[in-house]
Amino acid sequence: MKFEVRGPGAPPGLQAPDRAGAAVPASFYAPKTFLRRGGPIPRSVGSWSRDQERRRIVADRGLKTASAAQWPADVDPPDLSRIQIVAIPWTAAFSKNALYHYGKRRVYIEERTKILAALARGSIAQACRGTEWNQRKTYLDILVEQPFHTSDAINVLDVIADLVKQAIGVDDRWFCVLRLDWRIVKDNPRVFIGIGQEAGGDQAVCSVCGHIKEVSEMTVTRPSAKRPSGRHSECRQCNREIARARHRARRAAGVPRQGSV
Ligand SMILES: [Zn+2]
Repeated sequence: MKFEVRGPGAPPGLQAPDRAGAAVPASFYAPKTFLRRGGPIPRSVGSWSRDQERRRIVADRGLKTASAAQWPADVDPPDLSRIQIVAIPWTAAFSKNALYHYGKRRVYIEERTKILAALARGSIAQACRGTEWNQRKTYLDILVEQPFHTSDAINVLDVIADLVKQAIGVDDRWFCVLRLDWRIVKDNPRVFIGIGQEAGGDQAVCSVCGHIKEVSEMTVTRPSAKRPSGRHSECRQCNREIARARHRARRAAGVPRQGSV
């Protein structure tokens, strides 16, 4: 059975916005103002250049290159070239509900939980040692064994993602969950964590078109305190298109040619 988000049967909240026309519904992807064509965009929606003309071009390009939102039920699994599976002991302390304690003046995490987390992090780091992990989509495949049906597997996801982030040094913005399953195991319950990546090096997401690209396809700027790597958040293609659109707009308005974007 194929289920697609777009279509007459889809609930209204899941309807993909009409990218082509002007009738963009209140989107769940971004504030309405972000998708507005033309006109000034409030400063609050982003920290990029204050140049309003540039913002308009960027917003237009983002609309044009956004892909249709579809979510079919049967998708091909990613072609993982690096996989590590590690099992850590289950503990109720890793549940988001049990993690934080509320004292008189502060929110704190129990010492016991910190020790358990350090042990789990060590296990994950040891299992993943020798494998090169890159800043790119990282797939988690998690099976939670729990002794009772009172705790919920969803609530351990936060802690596990955090431990994996610290153990393999990949920013958790790259994480996505392939499976999150659970079963009841009375004796020595464990949490199995599969970590996988497809072949390739570091990647980055273009802030304009939103596509995931190799880091080498991103524009390069001089290293700064804010961006020590010297990488810009735009892909070369977007950067080129923005420059072209800007020159076109300036020529049309009769403004003499100025420096690059
Ligand atoms: Zn781009």
